[in-house]
Amino acid sequence: MRKIDIFDTTLRDGEQSAGINLNTAEKMEIARQLERFGATVIEAGFPASSPGDFEAVQRIANTVKNSTVTGLARAMKSDIDTSWEALKGGQQPHLHVFLATSPIHMEYKLKKTPDQVVDIAVEAVKYAKKFFPLVQWSAEDAFRSDPAFLVRIINQVIQAGATTINIPDTVGYATPQEYGALFKFLKENVTGIDRVKLSAHCHNDLGMAVANSIAAIENGADQVEGTINGIGERAGNAALEEIAVALHIRKDFYGLETGINLQEIKRTSQLVSQLTGVVIQPNKAVVGKNAFAHESGIHQDGMLKNRETYEIITPELIGETTAPLALGKHSGRHAFKDRAITMGFDLTENQLNEAFSAFKKLADRKKEITEDDLFVLFTGKQIENANADIYELTNVQVQYGTSNVPTATVSANVPTGENVVIATTGAGSVEAIFNALELLVKGQVNIMDYRVTSIGKGRDALGEAVVNLRFNGETYTGRDISQDVLEASAKAYLNAINRKLVKDSVKVAEPVSQV
Ligand SMILES: [Zn+2]
Repeated sequence: MRKIDIFDTTLRDGEQSAGINLNTAEKMEIARQLERFGATVIEAGFPASSPGDFEAVQRIANTVKNSTVTGLARAMKSDIDTSWEALKGGQQPHLHVFLATSPIHMEYKLKKTPDQVVDIAVEAVKYAKKFFPLVQWSAEDAFRSDPAFLVRIINQVIQAGATTINIPDTVGYATPQEYGALFKFLKENVTGIDRVKLSAHCHNDLGMAVANSIAAIENGADQVEGTINGIGERAGNAALEEIAVALHIRKDFYGLETGINLQEIKRTSQLVSQLTGVVIQPNKAVVGKNAFAHESGIHQDGMLKNRETYEIITPELIGETTAPLALGKHSGRHAFKDRAITMGFDLTENQLNEAFSAFKKLADRKKEITEDDLFVLFTGKQIENANADIYELTNVQVQYGTSNVPTATVSANVPTGENVVIATTGAGSVEAIFNALELLVKGQVNIMDYRVTSIGKGRDALGEAVVNLRFNGETYTGRDISQDVLEASAKAYLNAINRKLVKDSVKVAEPVSQV
């Protein structure tokens, strides 16, 4: 069966979208999960864009073994040199270098003639090939480029040694028919196109990213790029879990395989949502909360008689487990450790001990511990040490009554090493807490978004708070999980502030362009 490679760019194209800021430990966690998911290529970041990105790409390249790790670079020597330093420890060093080819990008952004663009692209690929065995070249805004010019420049970069050619629809403008036709045209007109891997990269501005990717596959693409949950710039990228499941469920029609471990979809989706703070719409295909819910009576009746009456995908296919968790208040450390290993977590003895005592505490207060609870507990432990607590909440207390003025008192350890206590009021409990915290961090804070959700079911479920705020001109997302939502909210607020302060402590390069 023909194999389609899956190129995941959750950590690059996904991570660069508004309000998402992952630290190195979180990126590592996602990369490890993408490896289990079975991504052929993992784009770990843009090494030349910031020291933080460099470090994350380097650590991922040195750790991941079963997926090829790549990084993005502009068509310039310094970017390629930096990328080599970050990626050379990988199993199969792979570089993704790009240059815009559409008339509007060449004229206004690059301020170069088409001839100059060809030269720069060829130079960059030749230079990259001195280091990297695998070089992917992307024609940024390819879909809006002149097809004849694409043929010309692709002929040259293949000669220069590119091993993959990517044809992105950078702005999400294509329709499936047109995008497929472009792949067919390139297949028929580019010399040596059969010697390289041909790749599709689609954005979802018109809701057609997945359909466009599949149209490309039908017309000769060997690889599709996208992200988990379809996160990404603007309306996002093609959702990889949708492509993988569509090709699997309709194998009879497409006759293709992706090598994706479908059983890992649920978990990968959950992890990306949790760490990025980007919620999954309930009706989203494959991974939405309601993707398998059957409400209508007629449907339910049919399902009871034969599930296949209305169900084309089973929750089990994507690794959703409904089996009860055999862990509770009286479980021992051994069973707990076994569960961590079965769930794919690799915790140190120390992290395991801490997780176990947190589990015991939770089991005392919560009747039933679910797989979701364990998942956030283990994930939290695994990434904990990397979240430097510049401000650390030590206590929060709220006085609230329907006819009183809500008052919050917060105490926290601050960067000077002191423990500061601040009390103030607000129109509501959360506002009072946020007002007190704003006084604590001594800056201007605007709340852009604030959300509280429950992890799993039940009135004693853990609460997760996500706070998206602007602090001194930049937007950051913080999150935290706690049994009490007010505590989770206060911690999530400080988590966002801490992320901003950690980011400030490392120099960040000029804003980056994208594919
Ligand atoms: Zn993109």
